[in-house]
Amino acid sequence: MAVPTATTSGTESRGAQFARLVLDWGTGHRRDLPWRATRDPWRILSSEVMLQQTQASRVVAHYERWVAAFPDPPACALAGPAAALRAWAGLGYNGRALRLHAAAVAITERHGGRVPQSAEELEALPGIGPYTARAVMAFAFGTQVAVVETNVVRLLSRAVVGRRLTASEAQATADGLLPEGAAWEYNQTLFDIGATVCRRRSPECGVCPLRPMCAWAAAGRVEPDPAATVHRQARFVGSDRQGRGRLVDALRSGPVPRPEVASAAGWPGDFERALRVAEGLVHDGLARWHRGALTLP
Ligand code: SF4
Repeated sequence: MAVPTATTSGTESRGAQFARLVLDWGTGHRRDLPWRATRDPWRILSSEVMLQQTQASRVVAHYERWVAAFPDPPACALAGPAAALRAWAGLGYNGRALRLHAAAVAITERHGGRVPQSAEELEALPGIGPYTARAVMAFAFGTQVAVVETNVVRLLSRAVVGRRLTASEAQATADGLLPEGAAWEYNQTLFDIGATVCRRRSPECGVCPLRPMCAWAAAGRVEPDPAATVHRQARFVGSDRQGRGRLVDALRSGPVPRPEVASAAGWPGDFERALRVAEGLVHDGLARWHRGALTLP
């Protein structure tokens, strides 16, 4: 998508003004997060996988523990999937631990233990998609790429075009706005404006650095909100996902004998459901049967 080119102040293009406002705000407001204090690609890859479905504030302590346990890909690969799952305790969406471990194995086997730098090589790793590859490229290697996650799509939809952007339109818009030589600062700051100012609910336009050029704010924030999406968060309490989580938590302490699977899943009266969920874990590589008990892989 073409970046708007109307001039806003003399010779400064709209794209340049956007970048300047973002970078100026970032200087004083960017959040201090541990994965921002490093350019180590393994640490950054680990943090990005953790951040995919978990808020930054919740990730901090888990991230510190994870990188202390597995300081590099060979350490994680060597420790094995069960150790990765144990170190993931409390983060949820446990499949991410297995995918990160599988990526560590591939990095160790194919790249001598060093995280590769190109999009092609990164995306060839298990569980690493275009978003994560771009994040590693920008934040570890300073590559000139725009990193677009949910918060950024919302921000660009409201501020730049005043209508809802598709994911590919948002990526193209972000690519067009990326200032030369500032991929790290610019992408990290956009994350923060999206997460802390241009929030999904109740965006704080009064303190937003992009307010002077925001398309939606200029239009009086008329409804519908350009970033409005239908959010259908599946109920967690009572769901199979809750039972899966309980079972994996129990396995972190040791094997669960088959007759105890139902109580470990939190459904003491429903062995059939618990067994189905346990088989699902086995199918997904998160557990295995060993001598009549469910255990970590
Ligand atoms: S002015 Fe308001 S709607 Fe526009 S980017 Fe800032 S917070 Fe979001």
